[in-house]
Amino acid sequence: MHSSLQIVAVPAFADNYLWLVHDPDSRETAVIDPGDPAPVMAEAGRRGWRIDKIFNTHWHPDHTGGNLAIKAATGADIWGPAGENGRVPGLDHPLGEGDTVQIGAHCAQVMEVPGHTIGHIAYWFAGDKAAFVGDTLFAMGCGRLFEGTPEQMHASLSRLAGLPEDTELYCAHEYTLSNARFAAQAFPDDAAIADRLLAVEQSRIAGQPTVPTNVAIERATNPFLRADNAEHFARLRAAKDDYR
Ligand SMILES: [Zn+2]
Repeated sequence: MHSSLQIVAVPAFADNYLWLVHDPDSRETAVIDPGDPAPVMAEAGRRGWRIDKIFNTHWHPDHTGGNLAIKAATGADIWGPAGENGRVPGLDHPLGEGDTVQIGAHCAQVMEVPGHTIGHIAYWFAGDKAAFVGDTLFAMGCGRLFEGTPEQMHASLSRLAGLPEDTELYCAHEYTLSNARFAAQAFPDDAAIADRLLAVEQSRIAGQPTVPTNVAIERATNPFLRADNAEHFARLRAAKDDYR
């Protein structure tokens, strides 16, 4: 029997969430996608946690910009996508599909979920019902296709949507309000989407985060999970790119 992971959102930049993850039993702490070192180290310090591990989902600087500073300050090792080796600062341990990482006794499986970037990975802690999905899936949305194809992103989203429905999804940005408004426009007669838009508006007015989300909620209300093929997905993604 062991304790649950403690997962803390650290807001950074305009709308990023950097995730601190702590195992009370081993006292091991990891940070997922530390784009900015200062708020992460401040929050860990406040809690008396020493950062032992850095896990990156992809190379973008708002996810990796704190790697070297945190490593220099704490000696933390850095894990990240093998498919982006050379672009992830300080990468010590390249990861691919089926690899595992640990925080204490808590184990995550690595899933390759390309599309936003070509080597993007997600970390699925099955025993903790938690997945860190970076910029692949957002609440009611998904990442832009900077490097991958619609086919790749459609497959990646389908894999995440296929996780057990009570899996919490830890996204890396607070994009939900814009995503919800787009979803309501794309599916104007959908009651579940309309209800969620109202709830998201209320959360944001109250200054509350709308992530994590979970697989069941996304299956019900994420427009990008409704695309039944890559072509349909590509049309929806292009419409969102143009939406303001
Ligand atoms: Zn990104």
